[in-house]
Amino acid sequence: MTELLGGIEAGGTKFVCAIGTSDGQVLREVRFPTTTPDETIGRALEFFAAETAGGKSISALGVAAFGPVDPHPGSPTYGFITTTPKPGWAQTDFLGRLRREISVPMAFDTDVNAAALGEGRWGAARGLTTFVYLTIGTGIGGGVIAEGHLLHGLIHPEIGHMRLDHDWRRDPFPGTCPYHGDCMEGLACGPAIAERWGQGGQHLPPDHPAWELEAGYLAQALQSLACILSPQRIIMGGGVMDKPGLLSRVREKTLAYLNGYVQHPAVLEEIDSYIVRPGLGSQAGVLGAIALAETAIQRA
Ligand code: ZN
Repeated sequence: MTELLGGIEAGGTKFVCAIGTSDGQVLREVRFPTTTPDETIGRALEFFAAETAGGKSISALGVAAFGPVDPHPGSPTYGFITTTPKPGWAQTDFLGRLRREISVPMAFDTDVNAAALGEGRWGAARGLTTFVYLTIGTGIGGGVIAEGHLLHGLIHPEIGHMRLDHDWRRDPFPGTCPYHGDCMEGLACGPAIAERWGQGGQHLPPDHPAWELEAGYLAQALQSLACILSPQRIIMGGGVMDKPGLLSRVREKTLAYLNGYVQHPAVLEEIDSYIVRPGLGSQAGVLGAIALAETAIQRA
């Protein structure tokens, strides 16, 4: 019998709880809005209790949470959502609450790290050992798999907050990041596009100058990532990347910024399969959480 795995995709606006299998199938899924920690985590517990009562007991649970989080097993605040500005959620002992009621191995990480794992397991990075998963949406985040393992380091990478070259004459917009102003997220996230141009990216036609500027910022970041991490592939998720034509502009500009320096055919000859969209689409989050559950079994 196939082993059943539980996953919680804990987003800032909605939670998705699911039961799936190690071949990447989601069997049961429930979605509800994120309210208070007590009520929201309570609903997640109810879902898994009901499924267990129905005979579907899970072997492990993966929790992919909005951040910032403490993803370090062994740390006193492991499994906490830490300094979030989201009302009521700062210093929430998320994993502790789950562990008091469900006794299976659990793994806890950021939503983008989990999505990276899922893409490696069943999506656009299958078979690769070193790659980057980025999401360009309301914020910009990224997860790194290095030599087969999620990269955590001190906390977890904050790719969206790297500093980019900002030409103030061409783009006088100061950026939206409350910490850095014109970091990558401050210049290139969805809300930055909307504030700079006075309307959301979804309303700007594909030939609007917004996209040339956007592609330039994203390509600067990709050039740095390609040079620093030597990824075998870079996956670009998030709603901003849905704009027709944006991905191909990013590919072109990344090649131009690299200027032939990374001497590998994956970059020089196959840029269309080097910089790609996610393979798991709208299921990336929940399958990421299920992929995390698998890592909990491997660790147990
Ligand atoms: Zn920033």
